[in-house]
Amino acid sequence: MKKTLPFDKAKIEEIVQTYPTPFHIYDEKGIRENIRTFLKAFEWADFKEYFAVKATPNPYLMKILKEEGCGMDCSSFPELLLSEKVGITGEEIMFSSNETPAYEYKEAVRLGAIINLDDITHIPYLEKHCGIPEVVSIRYNPGPERTGNAIIGNPVESKYGFTKAQVFEGLELLKEKGAKRFGIHCFVISNELNRESYVETARMLFLLVKEVKERLNIRIEFVNLSGGIGVAYRPDQTPVDLMALGAEIKDAYDELVVANGLHPLGIRSECGRMVTGPFGYLITEAIHEKHIYRDYIGVDASMANLMRPGLYGAYHHITVLGKEDAPSDHTYDVVGSLCENNDKFAINRELPQIVPGDLLAIHDAGAHGHAMGFNYNGKLRSAELLLGEDGTVTQIRRSETVDDYFATLDFSNL
Ligand SMILES: *Cc1c(COP(=O)(O)O)cnc(C)c1O
Repeated sequence: MKKTLPFDKAKIEEIVQTYPTPFHIYDEKGIRENIRTFLKAFEWADFKEYFAVKATPNPYLMKILKEEGCGMDCSSFPELLLSEKVGITGEEIMFSSNETPAYEYKEAVRLGAIINLDDITHIPYLEKHCGIPEVVSIRYNPGPERTGNAIIGNPVESKYGFTKAQVFEGLELLKEKGAKRFGIHCFVISNELNRESYVETARMLFLLVKEVKERLNIRIEFVNLSGGIGVAYRPDQTPVDLMALGAEIKDAYDELVVANGLHPLGIRSECGRMVTGPFGYLITEAIHEKHIYRDYIGVDASMANLMRPGLYGAYHHITVLGKEDAPSDHTYDVVGSLCENNDKFAINRELPQIVPGDLLAIHDAGAHGHAMGFNYNGKLRSAELLLGEDGTVTQIRRSETVDDYFATLDFSNL
């Protein structure tokens, strides 16, 4: 699909008068429209999406998603606090963590979050530190019964979740210890564009709910299909058809839940990447060009602003603003300033001619972009801006300063 932008060069030129590059900018309209489509695709079900906060932990974006009816999926103490600050508490929070320290469980219990346990030994651990809450969810690792996808890998090699036998044992134990309502969660795919994998997770969980009912006579209140819906990062990829996905899961629900007398069964999701990913852009200025064995464009952003290309060799589309229709007749490596040779946003990319001063939009940077930022090499994290539905621009996180960089240092005892 052709990659488009919700702004043009003139708009960005206006924005950089106030907010210098590099910065991330998020498209409110795109985020709202997409999440509405997702929720509509599941309106036939008792459905809730818990936005995976780690994708883009910004309270303004979380508030937008709350307004659209989402809860939050948290995995750490700060993410729990962030949710609380946005006014999201209780069962609007799914706490899907692993190797969880006691203080984080305590905070989740304090907030009344739904705790999604990653291991059977966490049942006595939770009991010891906070007591067993009324509602508990269990993370299922299907092991050899399921193949994951390229990004998340083979479930047998994955550190997450309960084995199948442990799911049964764990549910009985939780019931014995006073839990009253139960959920089962599974997360075996990541950045997947093929609907079938997601539908397969739903089918697998629907069957497990049936088996739990038959073997333990425990009613499961909800299944959590977790995240993993992919982003069409490349122009030749097609985004997941969310309405079709909802319809296919409905077919599975009718066949495996309704027909087996298990209706009503809640469906939950914890998507992050597809919720904000395609609606965030990293804007950076070309500041140097360099011609050695290859042609390089040096930009003022670096891997500290968007790590995915350097970390995974991930593709992020690049548009040179104002040159949308110019021929891509130059081949560049577009690089940042980190003292790491993998600090490259694009390698051997065919692009229009770029000259210093050109503004570049790096697409699909709205998830795991700013969030993965770091300070290595003395890099300061950039600002985050929100392009409102009415075209206004709000700074939703300022850029870091040298004072932020020094904030954890005490020079007085030097
Ligand atoms: C990362 C994560 C998600 C979100 O996954 P996406 O690929 O961003 O949709 C959901 N649940 C858990 C437990 C996660 O770790």
